[in-house]
Amino acid sequence: MAKRDYYEVLGVNRDASDDEIKKAYRKLAMKYHPDRNPDSKDAEDKFKEVKEAYEMLSDDQKRAAYDRYGHAGVDPSAGGHGGPGGADFGDFAGAFGGIFDEIFGGRAGGGGGGGGGQRVYRGADLRYNMEITLEEAAHGVEKTIRIPVMEECDTCHGSGAKPGTQPKTCGTCGGRGQVRIQQGFFSIQQTCPKCQGSGHIISDPCGTCHGAGRTKKQKTLEVKIPAGIDDGMRLRHAGFGEPGVNGGPAGDLFVEIHIKQHAVFQRDNDDLHCEMPISFATAALGGEVKIPTLDGTAAIKIPAETQSGKVFRLRGKGIKNVRSGHFGDLHCHVVVETPVNLTSRQKELLREFDEISRGEGSQNPREKSWMDKVRDFFD
Ligand SMILES: [Zn+2]
Ligand SMILES: [Zn+2]
Repeated sequence: MAKRDYYEVLGVNRDASDDEIKKAYRKLAMKYHPDRNPDSKDAEDKFKEVKEAYEMLSDDQKRAAYDRYGHAGVDPSAGGHGGPGGADFGDFAGAFGGIFDEIFGGRAGGGGGGGGGQRVYRGADLRYNMEITLEEAAHGVEKTIRIPVMEECDTCHGSGAKPGTQPKTCGTCGGRGQVRIQQGFFSIQQTCPKCQGSGHIISDPCGTCHGAGRTKKQKTLEVKIPAGIDDGMRLRHAGFGEPGVNGGPAGDLFVEIHIKQHAVFQRDNDDLHCEMPISFATAALGGEVKIPTLDGTAAIKIPAETQSGKVFRLRGKGIKNVRSGHFGDLHCHVVVETPVNLTSRQKELLREFDEISRGEGSQNPREKSWMDKVRDFFD
């Protein structure tokens, strides 16, 4: 499961203060709280996402790891104990404190200067939520999105140290980024708790990136949305996720599609449904009704004696299947309307109509069968 940038989830800047983060969290947590949104899966997911982002960004150590390594540096699902399994970062099952347990691509060649090899990791996958209209989903559309990317800091050129100073080799791990811990019979290699795996300590951090060595920048990306795409589908953009660690490959960006509610149509896979209100005179006498479709209008012939709830199907007026190219149908559900704001002349005619209809039970088929059922019930 790809993740959204934590700062974006909370809607705060990368240099937001603890206070700003707390405020943003409180606001969103109130908005998406399950008590306020009963039975909303969407709100529940948002609430979890907001909670997780806050837990990470409100903890100085976790925030620093996140700034440095992105999602790969923090893993809430593993609760501080790394290891394969548990985590849901796609190829990167890392956890804070155990971030280097899962290897991608093995050791980088030569680490240099007695530092030993630093391991190379693939960057985390990111998710971008995109809202589009039903028309855009039906016809396909191209969108330009701006995505946050972490790039090498211009001020310190990635070292994280204030210009003129140098990061020092970490004394705890001797620059290897890893320490060995004896656990029973086994000796386990773990991320160095002092330098969090980087192999060095920055005593005088760069003012621009606060020691992270990277800063957030906006990148624009053209996203081609194919005709027929459905709600919840994802488009993968390889290499547009978070950058890798120590020269590892970048993760992927998944653009997740969310389709806005349409005023007229409800979608059911490739089919569309709409309500078709008709006057009771048209329902009784028959006639022609114009209805909207996604690409214009269509006419439906209403036969005489049409009842509420009758469904007319227009073949091929639904949505093109994104894979097969086959078009779905449009289903129009008849709703016979009761007229309102009647004039006295109209009322007079209706009363007369009602009077001459007395005793003609067979003219109201539903009422007749209902009366029969009621009678059976009391017998
Ligand atoms: Zn910097
Ligand atoms: Zn260290």
